[in-house]
Amino acid sequence: MQTQLLPMTANTYLVGEVEGLLLVDSGMPHENRKLLRYLGDKKPAALLLTHHHLDHVGGARMLWERFGLPIYAHPLDIPYICGDKRRPPFPPIPWLGDYIANSPRPLPKEALIPVEEGAFVLGWRVVHLPGHTPGQVGLLRQGTLLAGDALRVGPRGPWVPPAIVNHDTQEARRTVGKIARLEANTILVGHGPPTTIEAVRALAARLGL
Ligand SMILES: [Zn+2]
Ligand SMILES: [Zn+2]
Repeated sequence: MQTQLLPMTANTYLVGEVEGLLLVDSGMPHENRKLLRYLGDKKPAALLLTHHHLDHVGGARMLWERFGLPIYAHPLDIPYICGDKRRPPFPPIPWLGDYIANSPRPLPKEALIPVEEGAFVLGWRVVHLPGHTPGQVGLLRQGTLLAGDALRVGPRGPWVPPAIVNHDTQEARRTVGKIARLEANTILVGHGPPTTIEAVRALAARLGL
C-alpha cells in the first residue's frame, strides 16, 4: 500500500492500491496550482474530504471541474462544503473570519457522495471521528489511520486540537478514546508528523478516556 504525503498548509495524502489512487483532502483555496504540480500526471480516482475546513477542501471544486471525480464526505459536513451552512468564523474575528473560513468555492450537491461510519472508499474503511467538526472522518486500512484533524501532532506527540478550532472539544476528547481503541499502528494527521497508536493510547490514558 502506497501512502504519499503532499505537504501543503494541511497535509494531503495520495494513497494507492489496485482500486486506484485516492486523494485525501485538497489544501487551501490558494494552493490549487501547487496541488496540481504534486499530482503531475497522476489522476486520482476519488477525493475524500476528512472535514469541511478551508485548509482541507480548498482544491475540491477545481479537482471536480478538472477530473469529474467522485468526492466523498460525511453528511454532517456536506452542508458546509455545499454552501448551505456558513462555516464558523476563522480566525474568530467577526466579518473577516467569516469571509476567510468561507472562501473555498462551494461544491454543487450532486458532486458529493455521503459516507458514514463503516462505509468503504477504495478499500479504506470510514471511521467517524467527530468533535473537531461534526462530520470529521478518518480512513483505516491495514493498520494505517488517516485521522484528518481529529488529532494534532506536535513536538510532544499527539494532542486534542485546540478548542478555538473545534466545533465541540468535549466530543473531540471522546474521539481520542475512540481512536485509542482502533486496530491501528500508524496514524497520519492533517497537521504534524505521523504518530503511533501507543502515543494516542498514552494520551487517552492521561485524559482519563
Ligand atoms: Zn486543518
Ligand atoms: Zn480542521
